[in-house]
Amino acid sequence: SIIPDYLTEVLDAVRPDASGEPAGYIPELAAADPERLGAAFAMVDGEVYGAGDVDTEFTIQSISKPFAYALALADRGFAPVLAKVGVEPSGEAFNEISLESDTGRPRNPMINAGAITVHSLAGPAGLNATERVERVVDGLSAFAGRRLRTDDAVYASEMAHAHRNLAIAHMLRSHDILVEDARAVVDGYTRQCSVLVSTRDLAMMAATLANRGVNPLSGEQVVPEPVVRQVLSVMFSCGMYDAAGDWGTQVGIPAKSGVAGGLIGALPGHVGMATFSPRLDNHGNSVRGVSLFERFSSDMGLHVMEVP
Ligand code: GLN
Repeated sequence: SIIPDYLTEVLDAVRPDASGEPAGYIPELAAADPERLGAAFAMVDGEVYGAGDVDTEFTIQSISKPFAYALALADRGFAPVLAKVGVEPSGEAFNEISLESDTGRPRNPMINAGAITVHSLAGPAGLNATERVERVVDGLSAFAGRRLRTDDAVYASEMAHAHRNLAIAHMLRSHDILVEDARAVVDGYTRQCSVLVSTRDLAMMAATLANRGVNPLSGEQVVPEPVVRQVLSVMFSCGMYDAAGDWGTQVGIPAKSGVAGGLIGALPGHVGMATFSPRLDNHGNSVRGVSLFERFSSDMGLHVMEVP
């Protein structure tokens, strides 16, 4: 295959760009090696291609959000989830304290307000906080096709500085969007964000979305097809936060970023793509990751609004 050579070539092309900074608000993340760089493609037939640091583990952070949303939709059904979390792009930063003014409903599941609420909806009703984290880690593992674990140091580091997410959760609690202890939900959400993945894992997770919810390696139907359509649609409109419009026009692939430097894209019926580079732009998206996806899209004509 020519794909590994192609990936090596594009990594070399973006490597000199040292702009941006690793996330500073989570001390453990600020300590990450900013030079790490990797890219992987997982085809829907299970073939995986990679170049660079594809086996280095880092925390999934916000890339957990579309997968947790998928689990909540699968576990609870659409209506109860939509009643609590909307699907409109907010045009605001990922950590904005932005709730619909009348209902208190978060605008979408990709911003923190929505993702904290979604975490509380994962698993059947009635789970305790620990069981819910287990449900989410099990679910993320099923998407990856491998047992994943959390990073306790990153979790503790983020929790010690989680004032903003706690503020969001208390707002949600005051509107009865959250119906349980606000701190316990943020704690679970923060553990969800601390799940360790490699670029290879992320490509496989994205490939599961690209493959109608079936993991290409295990063959497991992780979530039903209508759930996948919902998740990819929301990723397209909201996955890159306040850069979603730029991304949608320039790259045109449903995507999600995380503040540890990961980035995924899923091209339905074809491929799951992932990149890793810790320096972030002012939207909290990986600088070199965005450049890589711009290259993937233009070099291979992957924009979903273009006729191949
Ligand atoms: N855990 C991070 C937070 O809640 C995730 C944010 C992100 O990756 N954009 O702030």
